[in-house]
Amino acid sequence: MTHPCLTCGACCASFRVDFSVHETQDMGGDVPDGLAVEVTGSTCRMRGTDHSPPRCAALTGKVGSQAACGIYEWRPPSCPAGVFYKAGL
Ligand code: SF4
Ligand code: SF4
Repeated sequence: MTHPCLTCGACCASFRVDFSVHETQDMGGDVPDGLAVEVTGSTCRMRGTDHSPPRCAALTGKVGSQAACGIYEWRPPSCPAGVFYKAGL
């Protein structure tokens, strides 16, 4: 059975996603620098997640039917969908 997160994507178009600057590629992490917006000296945010309405710049497709994370392997650990993936739900 396909995991619902694989097509849903609603949380990637609902929440602000912040993470440590150390998660960016520039600092030795995985998150592509072009998708990270610096918030403070120690915090970054996924581009687009503080827009109104929010939508992560890495989210592809149509929310609710055919959505996907364009940087699944490189997304920050704080991603809302990532928690569910990791929990194996
Ligand atoms: S965790 Fe996010 S992407 Fe997954 S089913 Fe829930 S709202 Fe959709
Ligand atoms: S990086 Fe991927 S999983 Fe994280 S908020 Fe953006 S689209 Fe969702």
